[in-house]
Amino acid sequence: MDIRARKIYEALFALEDLREIFRHALPTGLNDNEEEQFLDGVARVETIIKELKEGKGSPLKYVEDTIELRTREEEYININAIQPGGRLTPEARKALITYGDGYSICDKCLEGRLDKIRKPPVDEFHAELAEFVGMDEARVVPGARRGFQAVASSLLERGDVVIVSDLAHYTEFLAVENVGGVIKEVPSGEKHIITGDAVAEKIELVKKELGRLPKLIIIEHFDYQFGNEHDVHGVGKVAKAYDIPFLYNGAYSVGMVPVNGKKIGADFVVGSGHKGMAAVAPSGVLATTDEWAPKVFRGSEIVGDVSDRTFKHKEPEMLGCTLMGGTLLSMMASFPRVKERVKRWEEEVEKSNYFIREFLRIEGNKILSEYPRKHTLSKVDTRNSFDKIAKTHKRRGFFLSDELKRRGIVGEFAGSTRVWELNTYGLNWDRIKYLSEVFIEIAGKYEMPVG
Ligand SMILES: *Cc1c(COP(=O)(O)O)cnc(C)c1O
Repeated sequence: MDIRARKIYEALFALEDLREIFRHALPTGLNDNEEEQFLDGVARVETIIKELKEGKGSPLKYVEDTIELRTREEEYININAIQPGGRLTPEARKALITYGDGYSICDKCLEGRLDKIRKPPVDEFHAELAEFVGMDEARVVPGARRGFQAVASSLLERGDVVIVSDLAHYTEFLAVENVGGVIKEVPSGEKHIITGDAVAEKIELVKKELGRLPKLIIIEHFDYQFGNEHDVHGVGKVAKAYDIPFLYNGAYSVGMVPVNGKKIGADFVVGSGHKGMAAVAPSGVLATTDEWAPKVFRGSEIVGDVSDRTFKHKEPEMLGCTLMGGTLLSMMASFPRVKERVKRWEEEVEKSNYFIREFLRIEGNKILSEYPRKHTLSKVDTRNSFDKIAKTHKRRGFFLSDELKRRGIVGEFAGSTRVWELNTYGLNWDRIKYLSEVFIEIAGKYEMPVG
C-alpha cells in the first residue's frame, strides 16, 4: 500500500496544529513561546513532507484516539451504492477546512435568514440552485428527507393520502407518518418501473376506496433499490390532470443527472447534497414553484404571550435556518463542478454499461436492474456465480469481499455474495476497466466460466 496518502493526512494535520497556534495568540502577533511552537510545528511539517517525498515512515492510523483515518477514497476504489455522488470535490474539502466552525456562515448575516446572506454569496447560490433544477425558489435543507418533511408538513392533514412507489425510500414513509398521513403505494410491477398509467390507476383506486383524492404524489426519478429510471414525465402529466401536487424525488439524480423540474411537471424538486451534490452530510435542496413557495416557505405567525415577540421573516418549515457552516459551504464550493458534471451524465451511464457488460461475462452473474443501464447504481445477483464458491470456501460469504479488498476494491456490503448493489458513479475509465478486470480475474482464480 502506498504510504503517501496517509502521509498527506499527517501533513494536513500538522498544518492544522500550526493553525491552532494562531487561534490562541493575540491578534497583534505570536509571543516568544508561540513563535517557538510555530518553528517546532514547521519543522514537523518539513519532516513529514520529506517522508512524503520518499514514501517512507510509519503510516498514520488515527485522527484521534479511537477515530480511524478514512482512506477508502484514496487507497481503494469505492463501489458503495450510496456514497459516490457525495464524494467531496477538492473545493468542498477546502471549504470544509475553513468553514468547519459551528455557525461559521453567520459572520455577515444581516437579516437573520440564511438564504439572504450575501457574503459569502449564499443568496446568489439559492437563486442558482433553483435555476439548476428548473424551479423558481429553493432552500437548502439537512438532507432530502427534510425536504419531504417540509412539504408533507405544509400540505397534509391527518388522514390525507400520499401516493408513493412500492420502491420508495423509507424517509418518504416517515415524513408522511410524522403528520399522520396515509401511504398508498403504486406497484412497479415485474419490470420494477413506475409508469404514469400505474400512478393514475392507483389514484382511481384510492378515489373509489376512500372517496377522496390523494393530496400529494412522491415519486423518485431513480429508485435506491434498482437504480431504475421511472417515468417522472408521465407522472407529472397525471399529477397535472388530477391537480395533485407532485414531489420529484431527485436523491439519486440532482447533482448527477440534468434535472428540469418544471419540464417534468413537478411542483417540488428534492435533492440530496450528500448523495448527489458532492457535499458534506446532512445537506440537500428543496425547490418549488412560485405557486407553492408561499405555502412551504411561509413566514412564521406565532407570537410570544409575555414578550409579544414575533418571527415573521423566519420560515417554520426550515425552523429558521438550516445549514449553517461546513455543510452549506461544501455544497457551494462543489457547485461549479456539479453544474459541469451533470453535462457528462451520458458518459457515466456508458461507463456503468461497460462495467455491467463485463460483469455479465462471468457465467451465472445476473443484473436485476433494467438493462442496458440508465444509471450508475445497479443491483446484481451473484447467487449462481460467486455464491456457489462461497458455499465451500472457508471464508464463506466473505471470500468475495476478501478477494476484492486484496485488489483494492471496497464498498460492497461485506459478506454479501448473493444479491447486492454497487455504484460506478465518478470512476474514470481506467478505474472502470480495472474494476471489470478484477471481477473476471477473481472468477478465473476459482475456475468459474467466463464468456
Ligand atoms: C438516499 C435517498 C433518500 C434520502 O436522502 P437524504 O439526503 O439522506 O435524506 C431519499 N430518497 C431516495 C430515493 C434515496 O435514495
